[in-house]
Amino acid sequence: EHLTNMIAAGEVVERPAGIVKECVENSIDAGAKVIDIEVFQGGIEKLIITDDGSGMDYEDAQMAFMRHATSKLQQEEDLFNIHTMGFRGEALPSIASVAKVELQTNDGNQGTLIRYHYGELVTREKCSCPLGTRIEISSLFLKTPARFKHLKSISYEFSIIADLVNKMALSHPEIRFTLSHDGRIVFQTSGNGNLQEILYQMYGKEVASNAIPFEQKSDDFQISGYAVQPKINRATKYFMFITMNTRLIRSIPIQKAILDAYSHYMPSNRFPIVILDIKTDAQLVDVNVHPNKWEIRLSKQSELLELIKKTLMEAISSSLR
Ligand code: ADP
Ligand code: MG
Repeated sequence: EHLTNMIAAGEVVERPAGIVKECVENSIDAGAKVIDIEVFQGGIEKLIITDDGSGMDYEDAQMAFMRHATSKLQQEEDLFNIHTMGFRGEALPSIASVAKVELQTNDGNQGTLIRYHYGELVTREKCSCPLGTRIEISSLFLKTPARFKHLKSISYEFSIIADLVNKMALSHPEIRFTLSHDGRIVFQTSGNGNLQEILYQMYGKEVASNAIPFEQKSDDFQISGYAVQPKINRATKYFMFITMNTRLIRSIPIQKAILDAYSHYMPSNRFPIVILDIKTDAQLVDVNVHPNKWEIRLSKQSELLELIKKTLMEAISSSLR
């Protein structure tokens, strides 16, 4: 069992950002409205994720560390009807197998404290703690030196976490996110649902106030979002945040269509910043290519690419007039 968890940990958590992703997804699944992510030394030393979600009772808190003990799949048919972000029940046992983990959780009836050290339960007791869940992960990979060796610099590890938290905040503008590094707040959203405000957090006032809203539809697709006016944008690399039916995706053809649209108006040393949401009939999309890679296959792709290119060109050119 411990060995299985360690092997799974290689897939689920190869770096601190992977742990942050799993924990924040759990917080979102628990209905959190406020999520705090405290990072110390790039997450190599310590990570603390605190939420105000529904918490767990004494039994469930223990179960959470058991492999495949997910609470999120009640029946087999649920596998085809997945609404929660996590469903495999692998993350917590995997993380607990390669680090020191302290969980404090309160479901409104009672508080529970559980400590795991490298796969071994060391504490399980009642405690008084606020409603929600706080999970502290420290001394990552100290007992798995091969994996420790794969960690990069503190600033690199933190930059991956920051990028991830930016994206999670953009896909959940209704949640108040706070990200801090070594005690200093580096990113915070209000949770009031405003995407422009999140761009402000990421890139500052000039970019945010020059984010042009767009909205357009074709027979099969409906697109909306923000395109930052290219002359303003001083980003050093492009940022394209693309969601399809609320799922974050990665698509080279769509990225190309965006670059194409911008290339008509933009000096070659500038980069697009775009937030793009696509709505379409789920039957046109195959998301099942790879769960972690966010790649999709799409019928009627050329219709979509045309729509994106045309809409962005209109948005950009209207802002230049
Ligand atoms: P999964 O998310 O795939 O179910 P995890 O290993 O990520 O598996 O979590 C195991 C279980 O622990 C979850 O199903 C959930 O019941 C519980 N859990 C984990 N984190 C939280 C949290 N922040 N708030 C409430 N419950 C949680
Ligand atoms: Mg999970």
